[in-house]
Amino acid sequence: MSKIHVAGLTKSFGSNEVLKGLDVDVAEGEVVCVIGPSGSGKSTFLRCLNKLEDITGGKVVVDGFDLTDPKVDLDKVRQHIGMVFQHFNLFPHMSVLENIMLAPVELKKLSRPQARNKALELLERVGLASKADARPAQLSGGQKQRVAIARALAMSPDIMLFDEATSALDPEMVGEVLQVIRDLAAEGMTMVVVTHEMGFAREVSDRVIFMADGLIVEEGSPESVFGAPRQPRTRDFLAKVL
Ligand code: ADP
Ligand code: MG
Repeated sequence: MSKIHVAGLTKSFGSNEVLKGLDVDVAEGEVVCVIGPSGSGKSTFLRCLNKLEDITGGKVVVDGFDLTDPKVDLDKVRQHIGMVFQHFNLFPHMSVLENIMLAPVELKKLSRPQARNKALELLERVGLASKADARPAQLSGGQKQRVAIARALAMSPDIMLFDEATSALDPEMVGEVLQVIRDLAAEGMTMVVVTHEMGFAREVSDRVIFMADGLIVEEGSPESVFGAPRQPRTRDFLAKVL
């Protein structure tokens, strides 16, 4: 059974069809990286996976939840899916610890002491145990993004989605965030990672999807997509970014 099953997914904004029929299956524990030019629909695809966008057509089943069923419990679905964006959106008036504890406590998944223990454990895991009481403003961009990842993990998701999580960071901070994602991959987290970091995609992914103009142009192992791309569009794109 696929952890993520997408069949014939289309998405339009008005008359602009930005996803033109995507078929994607992601197995449990699989790491899929999505690459492609700006405007090709990568973010929209990711947002359809937790229904941050209405789905125009096709089928999307995530963790057994049919997102195209109007009766689907979205709150429940989203508790199974962690998402990390380019911009971290931490609450500035709360400590790092409180930011991470918020969702588990509000959604009553955990008591405050449990949420606190879990948050401290997660901060340890992302290398920020010493920053529990800091405010987001006191952190570097890389540290803030690691807190954002810890915050997503606090809900114990089965699936993590990353949308260019390192694009807004200064170059010297990219590595520390990629390391956290790499660790998650090694622990067997199912992940869909939209990234501009081609070296990282090549190293961490089980499968690479190249998107252009709302379509999957090519997909395969990192060795095949990066090492021997079959489609001219993939070759053009890689020639520009590598
Ligand atoms: P990518 O992440 O690959 O850069 P996006 O998914 O962000 O691509 O965008 C794909 C296309 O969808 C673009 O043409 C973009 O302008 C359009 N688009 C994305 N979000 C919206 C929106 N909320 N309203 C209208 N058009 C949108
Ligand atoms: Mg995008």
